[in-house]
Amino acid sequence: MEIEKHYINRSGWLRAAVLGANDGILSTTSLAIGVAAASTTREPIILATLAGVVAGALSMAAGEYVSVSSQSDIETADLLREQDELENFPESELQELAMIYEKRGLDKTLAIAVAKQLTAHNALEAHARDELGINEITQAKPFQAAIASGISFIAGGLLPLLLSLFAPMKQMIVLQYGFSILFLAVSGTFAAKAGGSLVFRSVMRICIWGTFAMAMSALVGYLFEVRVS
Ligand SMILES: [Zn+2]
Repeated sequence: MEIEKHYINRSGWLRAAVLGANDGILSTTSLAIGVAAASTTREPIILATLAGVVAGALSMAAGEYVSVSSQSDIETADLLREQDELENFPESELQELAMIYEKRGLDKTLAIAVAKQLTAHNALEAHARDELGINEITQAKPFQAAIASGISFIAGGLLPLLLSLFAPMKQMIVLQYGFSILFLAVSGTFAAKAGGSLVFRSVMRICIWGTFAMAMSALVGYLFEVRVS
């Protein structure tokens, strides 16, 4: 007997990590390219990428923390309310659960039998899963998500930072663009493989949008340089 591979339980932290890394590469490289297009010296490029990595990592982590913990607050409040209802109105909660199973296709007697057994086994768990859609897999973990996206943003931002430190000034923009697209393609491949989705499509998507973002910042840099010089 072969066991199917499922990816849904890996998708939470993976999503945060891949988004963080892609964001780190893309936004930091865009900053570097934008400043490089307007500057003939290295220092402003280094400063911009460094500030971009720090600010980006912190804001990614904070944003992820806030969004995941508000999700988690909602879940906790829902579970408390459900617990309370189960204690005070066990009979109507049982009927409610049976109705859910009936709507899913069980006949009346079977639905009530299933509801009774699951209530005896673990009433809160049954209501959480079948009424609220909360289970262990999707339960929100704000701190974990915040750390994952902050660290992965830094990991993504390291590449453009290193390039702004060491790449020859003449090829700065070309190298920043080339390396970031290469890394976006690699991380897109990894993400698609780990998530079990189509590799080519996700790599193309990331490369096209990445090119667009970097072209826009280069344009801003050129316009700025033209205006001040
Ligand atoms: Zn309920």
